Amino acid sequence: MRRIRHGDHGPAVAEIRAILVGQDLLPQGGDPGDFDAATETAVRAFQQSRGLTADGEVDDETWRALDAARWRLGARSLYQSIPDPLVGEDVRTLQERLLEMGFDVGRADGVYGARTARAVAQFQREVGLHPDGGCGPQTMNALRRLGRKVVGGRPQWLREQDTFRQSGPNLVGKTIVVDPGHGGPDAGIVVPDGPLRWTEAELAYDLAARLEGRLGAAGMRVHLTRGPSPASSPSQLERAQLANDLGADLLISLHVDGHANPGADGVATFHYGTGNGATSTVGERLAGLVQREIVARTGLRNCQIHPKTWDLLRLTRMPAVRVDVGYLTSPQDREHLVDPLFREQVVEAIVAAVQRMWYPLDADVPTGSIDVRQLRAMVAADS
Ligand SMILES: [Zn+2]
Repeated sequence: MRRIRHGDHGPAVAEIRAILVGQDLLPQGGDPGDFDAATETAVRAFQQSRGLTADGEVDDETWRALDAARWRLGARSLYQSIPDPLVGEDVRTLQERLLEMGFDVGRADGVYGARTARAVAQFQREVGLHPDGGCGPQTMNALRRLGRKVVGGRPQWLREQDTFRQSGPNLVGKTIVVDPGHGGPDAGIVVPDGPLRWTEAELAYDLAARLEGRLGAAGMRVHLTRGPSPASSPSQLERAQLANDLGADLLISLHVDGHANPGADGVATFHYGTGNGATSTVGERLAGLVQREIVARTGLRNCQIHPKTWDLLRLTRMPAVRVDVGYLTSPQDREHLVDPLFREQVVEAIVAAVQRMWYPLDADVPTGSIDVRQLRAMVAADS
């Protein structure tokens, strides 16, 4: 699809605007068919909320996200459709409710697949409805009645934790996907610096390549989601699929942040979570370790860890985190980021965090003190 952007007119613009109004990102009124400055701002805000590149233009990926966002739970009947499954915000809301009640839908990915249909059938059986695995008015009513009163033990996160623990305290042979953010025509945050030009895409790739070397040396199988070439720009979905297809044990996505205010600075790490209950506990643990190792080793301001439902975190089936290593728009953070020695420190911090994920608790050592050059020896001693 052609990119729809500021200055465009027509029915497609009207549809985009209607969805943004429904999301409370754009006020009612105005010329419905005009992609004006307010529409662009609203698209940016929407993209930011979904972890997409906030360029204010509607490409295929942004359109898919907008299309999925317009469905509110209860607005249509949901069922398992083969081969094209129903996708939408309403499916995700349904999955989150089921998860909170203790039904196994896997990850709330917004796709009505076989596992979701099974969980719905199980729910229907428990409330005395015909277990057809579809979510029509009756099932919707039953869900509404039970509401948030029933909150279970979030079994799928405990399962995730078990799988993780059972894989043993050893890095050798484990698979990790390292995801340098952006790429290709999408440079991410760009800051001119005299004759030079710093881009998030290049810095993220540099960090990823360094991380690949370190983790590879520790015996892990490491895959990058993209290359350095300007042609390489996979979508969030493609990145998640790559990690799923590889059966990766972990995914780490690398970004730097940017803000109009040059005073904004610091590091933040994100894991999958809805903010009201459903959280990947292993992802949260990894995010905590990455965050605290980076803060301890680099002195970047601690902007904490946060649960997000961004596509990359939501569609991956393994613990996944995204770290925004400082603000390229902050003169202070930028001075660090452009220094290869600083980037090496960041990479050491992430390697130490990954190591800690599988490190036996009794052998745990204080934050900031694992020497990654000794990793191989420690790994060999563990096994
Ligand atoms: Zn980014």
